Amino acid sequence: MNHTATASPPPTTVTLREVGLRDGLQILPRVVPTTIKQQWLRRAFEAGLRHIEVGSFVPPKAMPQMADTAELLATAAGLPGLHASVLVPNLKGAQRALAAGARSMLFPLSASHAHSLANLKRTPDEALAELAAIVRERDAAGGGCEVEVGISTAFGCTIQGRVDPAEVLRLARGVLDAGADGLDLADTVGYADPAQVKRLVGAVQAVAGERLVGLHFHDTRGLGAANAMAGYECGIRRFDGCVGGLGGCPHAPGASGNVATEDLAYLFASIGETTGVDFDALMSLRSDIAQWLPGVPLYGNIWRAGLPATLKEPLAA
Ligand code: ZN
Repeated sequence: MNHTATASPPPTTVTLREVGLRDGLQILPRVVPTTIKQQWLRRAFEAGLRHIEVGSFVPPKAMPQMADTAELLATAAGLPGLHASVLVPNLKGAQRALAAGARSMLFPLSASHAHSLANLKRTPDEALAELAAIVRERDAAGGGCEVEVGISTAFGCTIQGRVDPAEVLRLARGVLDAGADGLDLADTVGYADPAQVKRLVGAVQAVAGERLVGLHFHDTRGLGAANAMAGYECGIRRFDGCVGGLGGCPHAPGASGNVATEDLAYLFASIGETTGVDFDALMSLRSDIAQWLPGVPLYGNIWRAGLPATLKEPLAA
């Protein structure tokens, strides 16, 4: 156990970015009280997570679940060494994020034309123009906040079906040309498989190099950890997850959500990598999330049996 939560974390070789407070909560038809979210955030930090997406600057009327994102950012600012990020869907959201002191913004850009129109109400090219405006706004505010782009539905789409890898590459180039600091690829609906991950990640790396900074997988069909491993083998060292596997798909009722952070922590520990995560603290947070979200199913695998006794490097023991 890590008894001194404010001590500097051990050096990590693989970064887990916790996205439960955003991806996990945004589709729930309920508003989680701010005090609970603040507790959730602190507990995730105390469990060793140093990259946490704390919310989204979407219009509060459209998504009241995310209306307190500025307050969460303020809480995050009091946690030393925490890299807190927020999702911004448009220029207005970016302005609100900058005003709230955000140091890292994630702008979603859908590679599926149909998904982009349905969810973001614009074409991918209109999203690129919006991104350029966000980068200008950031620069005018004096820099100091990184702009990252999450290319969603990069591996397939429930509405459109196949997403052409050439289109993902075209958008990755466009994202970098627009001045984004980095990008990640998201399997928003859980369609990816490991062979596809290797092909697409390799192709995007050829365009973006180390500016392809992370991968975001959903475990909708059970391949979340396998896909993360495929990305790892390509050299990617940052992966998104949700404690308890929150983040189910609205188009697939009953389907599991994001790959569970605790499953990723175990996966990478099993191959000798260090994530800085305290497994017991994560499990304790998972139990509390179950209490905070009654009736919301949690997923993941490692919580059922716990860590194997043969694991060489106990997680932050
Ligand atoms: Zn997601």
